[in-house]
Amino acid sequence: MSNPITLALHGGCGVMAQQDLSPEEWRAARRDLERALRAGWAVLQARGSALDAVQAAVVVMEDSEHFNAGHGAALNADAEHELDAAIMDGATLAAGAVCAARRIRNPILAARHLLEAGDSVLLAADGADAYAARHGLPCVDNPYFTTPRREAALASMREHQRAGTFKSARESEKHGTVGAVALDAHGHLAAATSTGGYTNKPVGRVGDSPIIGAGTYARDGVCAVSGTGQGEYFIRHVFAHDIAARIAHGREDLGSAASHLIRGAFAEHGVGAGAIAIDAQGRVAAPYNTLGMFRGWVTGDGKGVVASHERLFEFDCQPA
Ligand code: ASP
Repeated sequence: MSNPITLALHGGCGVMAQQDLSPEEWRAARRDLERALRAGWAVLQARGSALDAVQAAVVVMEDSEHFNAGHGAALNADAEHELDAAIMDGATLAAGAVCAARRIRNPILAARHLLEAGDSVLLAADGADAYAARHGLPCVDNPYFTTPRREAALASMREHQRAGTFKSARESEKHGTVGAVALDAHGHLAAATSTGGYTNKPVGRVGDSPIIGAGTYARDGVCAVSGTGQGEYFIRHVFAHDIAARIAHGREDLGSAASHLIRGAFAEHGVGAGAIAIDAQGRVAAPYNTLGMFRGWVTGDGKGVVASHERLFEFDCQPA
């Protein structure tokens, strides 16, 4: 019997208030989530690997202006972009990651290249950019990643900083991230995450997304996880690995393990956070403690769902 193939993704927690975007803009973001799901699902349906599926889904979201990764990533304190990404194979625990990259058009592709090379797990800054260029991955000038929405978010965050009102800034102005997790027909799990970090972050700051065990983790037989939210807390709590340990050693179910920190310590301390996770049986969890989280999933029957707030929008992922 083949496994229940499953794909889930997020496009960042702390999405805007409903009134901040026009209905057409909400639809456009959901359309890109659906495109990302279809890209990953096509891989899984062809009995491709979970690794290829999460990569395909993340590339679509990196190329979309609607999410904080690749084109459309957040601007740092110097009004420039430094990008983080990681990918992990649950079958072998092989992983690849880049951080503070400034020129790699699709950071997840550089992370995947490192995973396959099997030498370094994490390359930073100029070293990551040079690695990508050396291996023929598409490279761009830094302004390629900039969008008017991110420029407005930086102006707003600088204003909050001047006025000392950072805490009241909307979650959507602060951060975002994209991520995908998958279970393939061979029973293997994989996770991938890509981000621009948070708006106005210090130059050189690295978040949780490229840190294996913090923002990204996958282990066959247990779970695959991708997180979104204030990365410093995800690193301190070794967030994604904590979920896996709860399942593997504490015998918790996926739903309770995935929401433990998000609805517990993070919520208590006002840390906006969310995640997507799947377990070895293809069950999906997508907890968040913010106003909303861009998210979606497709399960074995090909039924897909995308959402930003509470309302779920269904679609059929089977080819027509
Ligand atoms: N986790 C990301 C970071 O801290 C940002 C986010 O997901 O909102 O870099």
